[in-house]
Order: sequence, then C-alpha cells, then structure tokens
Amino acid sequence: MSEHRNRRCLLRWLRSARRRSGLITAATPVTRLADVERLVSELDLTATTTHAELAAQLSTLRGRPIRIQPYPAAFVAEARRIDEPLPYGVWVPKPAADYVFFRAETTLTHQRHIILHELGHICCRHVGEDAAEAGRAESGEPDHASITSAVKRAGGFAEDQEQAAETFAYLVERQTRPNLSAAGETPAARYRLLED
Ligand SMILES: [Zn+2]
Repeated sequence: MSEHRNRRCLLRWLRSARRRSGLITAATPVTRLADVERLVSELDLTATTTHAELAAQLSTLRGRPIRIQPYPAAFVAEARRIDEPLPYGVWVPKPAADYVFFRAETTLTHQRHIILHELGHICCRHVGEDAAEAGRAESGEPDHASITSAVKRAGGFAEDQEQAAETFAYLVERQTRPNLSAAGETPAARYRLLED
C-alpha cells in the first residue's frame, strides 16, 4: 500500500519535473514579471507552506542551502549607534550557502514578507553588484563586515529586480496565505510598505 503511494508520489514528481521550464536553475537573472509568475507556478506550494519549507525546497532545487535568521543583535545595535538605516532584510551570498537576515522588530506577517522578498532575489538570481566576488572571498558564516557590505549593496538592485522580488513575495503569499491576499493589496502597495 505505502509502496504504491510512494510510486505515485515519484510519478507526480517526475511529471512536474518535466513541466519545469528551467527558470529556477537557469544562469540568467529573472526580471520579467511573466517569468516570475511561471517560476512561482513551478514551486510546490500549498495553502500551508511556510517560508522555512519554501527555503528548504529552494535549497534542494538550487543545490545550495539557504539559512534565514534575524540580524545579529550586535549588528542592529551598531547600526543604531551610528544612525545607519538598516534594510528590513538582506541577502548575503557566501560560497557554501545563501544567508537571509531580517529585522525582527516588526510583525510576523511583515517578517514573512521581508523573507519572501529576499528569497525572491535569490530565486531570481539577482546578484547585486560584486556580490558574487565578495561572497567568494570569505567562507563560513557571514561576519559583521560581510553583512555590512551586503547591506550597502542592498540599495543597488535595479528597479526591475526589486519589482520581480516583490512580485515573487506577493505571488507566494497569495498561494500560501489565501485569506490574507483577499484585501486587494498589490505588489506596488506591498513595496511601499516594505520601504517605510
Ligand atoms: Zn529587494
């Protein structure tokens, strides 16, 4: 019985793998909104998929772990001390893994949106200026300096990449939290929210 179920599961996986367009593993950045839509439609999302489950799925598909954590407390304190604005979230690419840091002093819904936005940048391969080089130079967990340089780069994403990441977050939210998305919120409105 369970063997039968496993086989059915495998067949479903193979069928869906054949349907994949390769957008998730292609080398070029995804910025066209139609491509973002297609990319999201190829993910295995249900109404209860959490951002951690999505990150695990992307880690497997991309063959690189994604680690999500709040900014280190010392980093937040230092940003406050020197009065440096801290983005809600940042993606720090390292040789062995991609790290997403987010600001924890906001609602869980907002945190989730921030994380999905950064997963959007990762999934769409929006490598910021020199990000890959900076990532290659160091290894292990990101230290203070590598988070700082990622934060400085975060504003350097092109506008079409920001919109693509925001659309990614919006589309994932619509599929995984159907009750929340009925409020008529648009990617643009969400983007403004994120910029506040
Ligand atoms: Zn962004």
